[in-house]
Amino acid sequence: MSNKRDYYEVLGVPRDAGKDELKSKYRKLALKYHPDKNPGNREAEEKFKEASEAYGVLSDDKKRAIYDQYGHQGLDNSNFSGSSSFEDIFASFGDVFEDFFGFGGSRRGGPRVQRGADLRYDMTLEFMEAAFGVEKEITINKYDLCDVCHGNGCREGTQPETCSQCQGTGQFVQSQGFFKVKTTCPYCRGKGKSIPHPCSKCVGSGRMEISKKVSVKVPAGVDTGARLRLNGEGEPSSSGGPHGDLYVFINVKPHKFFQRNGTDVLCAVDISFVQAALGTELTIPTLDSEKSFTIPKGTQYGETFRLKGEGIPSLRTGRKGDQIIQVNIKTPTRLSKKQEKLLREFDQMDSDKISNKLKNLFKNI
Ligand SMILES: [Zn+2]
Ligand SMILES: [Zn+2]
Repeated sequence: MSNKRDYYEVLGVPRDAGKDELKSKYRKLALKYHPDKNPGNREAEEKFKEASEAYGVLSDDKKRAIYDQYGHQGLDNSNFSGSSSFEDIFASFGDVFEDFFGFGGSRRGGPRVQRGADLRYDMTLEFMEAAFGVEKEITINKYDLCDVCHGNGCREGTQPETCSQCQGTGQFVQSQGFFKVKTTCPYCRGKGKSIPHPCSKCVGSGRMEISKKVSVKVPAGVDTGARLRLNGEGEPSSSGGPHGDLYVFINVKPHKFFQRNGTDVLCAVDISFVQAALGTELTIPTLDSEKSFTIPKGTQYGETFRLKGEGIPSLRTGRKGDQIIQVNIKTPTRLSKKQEKLLREFDQMDSDKISNKLKNLFKNI
């Protein structure tokens, strides 16, 4: 497990770096690789986690002592190795981002850092778009960080101040008889900070309504009820945490010829009773072209046949299902004199007809 980089090297500090130096280096790296600034960028995400892990160890005297003496292995053995979920990182080091975002931090007793809200978008797809995958541009209306104050709600050159009403705790403790009741501070609405000089654009909220175009890659094989998650495309956190996610809910329209059953597609074809009896070669439309298919002699009503691999790919394995052909046999409703005569002659010769069977049945009783 020791292909990890040296923690001092990760943060770019000397081995005798003090706490302030560690914090300021980490802050720089964390802001550079912050997931909100690099949505969808895997490499930035890894760097962010790596720097957070290094800072988590080096800013803790006990862990740092173990690391200095025994390296990564020492931490693994003492169960001190870093955790790597974003929630954990923000919960542990939120205070590092506090000055930058204006709010938040996780000082004991103070307000907690939370993710922004998730959003939902309902997308309707044509049958073929779902079968083959498609890239769609959608427009979502949402709140984002104010582009003037970058979310801290303050006029340029000013800073939020500790709320004087609750001393930054975000809460009031009131005595009611024997009980102590905690309520959220109404002046700062629990944020622990007040804004003496609000930003002129967002009036201190730190947010603005935006309309954003987002490109959604819909994979081949989605079906009604599928849900696609777009990382970080939700609303911003009001406490310096990561953005929420955008969930795209899929609804697939029916098709006039094909029906879907998981990865199989079903279609019904009509043939005449003569074709059913004698067999016939048909040209069957498939999802992407057409195939010729031989219906065998003596096919019965409702019988099904498979075209292997002509279905829809599985979302998980990519393997395609089959196309299933269901045969409907049409009985003629208008016959010419000649046709009728021929059918009567055929009937005379037919040993398999129902009236003969019934006679035989009664004979045996
Ligand atoms: Zn603003
Ligand atoms: Zn307050």
